[in-house]
Amino acid sequence: MVSLKIQNLKKSYGAAEVIKSVSFDVAQGEFVVFVGPSGCGKSTLLRMIAGLEEISGGDLLIDGQRVNDVAPDRRGLAMVFQSYALYPHMTVAENMGFALRLAGVPKEERRKKVEDAARILQLETLLDRKPANLSGGQRQRVAIGRAIVRHPKIFLFDEPLSNLDAALRGQTRMELVALHRQLKGTMIYVTHDQVEAMTMADRIVVLRAGVVEQIGRPLELYNEPANTFVAGFIGSPKMNLLNATVRSSDGERIELTLDGGQSIRVGGFANVQADARVTLGLRPDMLKPADDGPIFGTIVLSEQLGKETLIHVDLGTGEPLTVSYEGQHAMVIGARISLTPDLDRLHLFNESGTRVDRVRSTIMA
Ligand code: ADP
Ligand code: MG
Repeated sequence: MVSLKIQNLKKSYGAAEVIKSVSFDVAQGEFVVFVGPSGCGKSTLLRMIAGLEEISGGDLLIDGQRVNDVAPDRRGLAMVFQSYALYPHMTVAENMGFALRLAGVPKEERRKKVEDAARILQLETLLDRKPANLSGGQRQRVAIGRAIVRHPKIFLFDEPLSNLDAALRGQTRMELVALHRQLKGTMIYVTHDQVEAMTMADRIVVLRAGVVEQIGRPLELYNEPANTFVAGFIGSPKMNLLNATVRSSDGERIELTLDGGQSIRVGGFANVQADARVTLGLRPDMLKPADDGPIFGTIVLSEQLGKETLIHVDLGTGEPLTVSYEGQHAMVIGARISLTPDLDRLHLFNESGTRVDRVRSTIMA
């Protein structure tokens, strides 16, 4: 069942169009993450759904009903912000019950809903405290509790973990996933952090400059990025994107020359013409040091992370290359290194940056 439907949604501030005809559906119970770099329009889109920003064009439907002009408090949504926006003079219980009080919910029912939410969030022992006497993570949970008590049709989160330190962010991430499973609510979550998107989402909406670049499940985006933007944005360390020219193509096997002069032959790509400019996508773990690999360059930096060694290689093209070499290896800065790409898994993008699909996976060395 569709919970939220967005059709050709647009938002302009004067002449600046910040959301450019965005369309997608969110299913009942789904956890959808909007991800993209700072300024791409994530918060604007979320605030349009919440009713906090006027919609310039298109339709917004909740449970099949057009709500473009419905007031925020009548949309049945609850939003959790990065700044928790708790009332400092109220206790945890009062903060959590405040919206219910405004809505005229009787005291006894309010108390029960607050206690239910407190139990879910393990805040039972903190109900009489003021926000000043809570840790960042606890305040964050109170802000979520304030949303839970309202039993919203859709939960909206705008970078709610950004104020937490790294360890707490990781932990709270898992708690939110568990909470989603428990409540079975529809959730829309905004973040600039692709790790949060990958680990939390049922489906990810990748935004860039007000445009949807791709929508899909986390591993779909990772395994089959629709374009070079998604390829570079999803995954850490980033996918290496190397420019190349197609030397020859026989309809299934192509020969490429990287801008650094190295040649690679790869099978499985049809519809690529000779002389076409292309971009080769190689994740850092798709490159292995080898005695006589087709890609070679100079080691400019190495980082020992314990389970892997990251090697940064200068190919002489100005395009830095990152290699993730499993295990612990001492690398000599300035030394030459030769690398073999995993031809079976490499990605190819055409001149406009759009993915070229493989017809079949053949390995041609
Ligand atoms: P994100 O949340 O992805 O970082 P935002 O949705 O906050 O991005 O902003 C998207 C774009 O809209 C940005 O370029 C921002 O400068 C612009 N913007 C946001 N609010 C306003 C406003 N009130 N007036 C003009 N431009 C705005
Ligand atoms: Mg934002």
